[in-house]
Amino acid sequence: MVAVAEKQVFQSLSEKVGRFDLKDKTFAIPEMNPIGPRLIAASFRSFGIRALVMETYKGLDLGIEYSSGKECYPCQVTMGDILHFLKTEQIRLGKAFQADDYIYFMPESSGPCRFGMYNKYQRMVLDSFPDLKEVRIGSLTTKDGYALDGLIARDKVRDLKKAAYFGLVVGDVLERLVWRVRPYEKEAGATDAYMEQAVPVMIKTFEVYGKQKNFKAILNQLEETVQGAVPLIDPRIPPKPLIGMVGEIYLRSHVLSNQQIVKVLEKYGAEVVNASIGEWMNYITYEGLRKVREEWRLSLKQLQLSSFFRHLRAWLRFRGELFYQEYRQNQAFQRARRHLDLAADHQVMHLEQMLREQDLFSFDVGTEACLSISGIMEYIRHGFNGVINVYPFTCMPSTVTAAVVKPLMSRHRIPYLDTAYDAGYQPGRDAAVRTFMYQAQQHMRKNGRKKH
Ligand code: SF4
Repeated sequence: MVAVAEKQVFQSLSEKVGRFDLKDKTFAIPEMNPIGPRLIAASFRSFGIRALVMETYKGLDLGIEYSSGKECYPCQVTMGDILHFLKTEQIRLGKAFQADDYIYFMPESSGPCRFGMYNKYQRMVLDSFPDLKEVRIGSLTTKDGYALDGLIARDKVRDLKKAAYFGLVVGDVLERLVWRVRPYEKEAGATDAYMEQAVPVMIKTFEVYGKQKNFKAILNQLEETVQGAVPLIDPRIPPKPLIGMVGEIYLRSHVLSNQQIVKVLEKYGAEVVNASIGEWMNYITYEGLRKVREEWRLSLKQLQLSSFFRHLRAWLRFRGELFYQEYRQNQAFQRARRHLDLAADHQVMHLEQMLREQDLFSFDVGTEACLSISGIMEYIRHGFNGVINVYPFTCMPSTVTAAVVKPLMSRHRIPYLDTAYDAGYQPGRDAAVRTFMYQAQQHMRKNGRKKH
């Protein structure tokens, strides 16, 4: 009996987790950051895919109930999101609910941490509900740079990826806009109220122009949004200490999981720049490029010509993708920067070079620690007044980051704070943030800050 049950689980992992055709399905995307996923979903909709972003955090109790507590916090939160969404759909549709109409998006990553296991674990939980067994998990992997093959007709795959990537980048720019304007707003709450109007307009723009790849029209709308936010700033408010944020991608982006850390920092007088999501996407493409380059060199050494040419072709593909992604990212940031000095994004190749020069960490180890450690060094170089590392409790790459950068921060005498999160509230967190912000004020008084 046990053997049969195990076999079923493994069959489910191979048959119901992977890349599936999204035609006539509801593609349920978990919310990570507030804007980017909505623009990605809008890009998918422009291709006729029924994509939506699920309500988040409402099902946290379910996520906790169906996990053991040893999982990373983002796994519990997303588990709760999908269970809550499906239960709500069951109530909404009654007998018309068909589990196989849904594809739940949960990507994965190879490498030493647990992200590769989320979708397997969540598969097992879905399989434990007889009426949810047929919900499939649409999983993209970092191994091939989140390729979208198989989700849509072959001739549309590249266009879909370009439009979705652009949605992600425009989401990054709009979030930077919020963090740049909100600390200096004339009227409390004006920035958030403005974005509540502006984001639906941008969503509509992606729905209309995403499929046509009319990025010009999208950029025009982006420029208009940035321009409209500038008058919210009170020019009489002097510059505030600039805080750089790094950490685990989900926690630093998901405002409910990180208990609104950006707003808490702003409350104590900060202007914050969080690492972007585009940076992670570029890192994944760059990682593919590095791996293929190693294999290509090895096949040359071993004089395996067919393997050499195969890897060379793959290298050219990754190089082209990285070039394209960085080009689009720069384009979006530059259009916004015509009107407001938003912090630009880091270039991933430069980050690796810097780590190598400083001999602090190696991209060979992989994980987000590569980006966090090098991102912190960039913040130091650019005259930030403090750095905060935001991550789930026990997160492996962020713990590595903390271990590597703490001595560096003391040497440079820059305030630094580690903030680990789970579903609980730490009573001392507020005091820690206030103390950190006091140190950041002192740092700015002594050293000045990066100019606007
Ligand atoms: S990055 Fe951290 S939180 Fe995410 S899966 Fe890995 S260990 Fe868990």
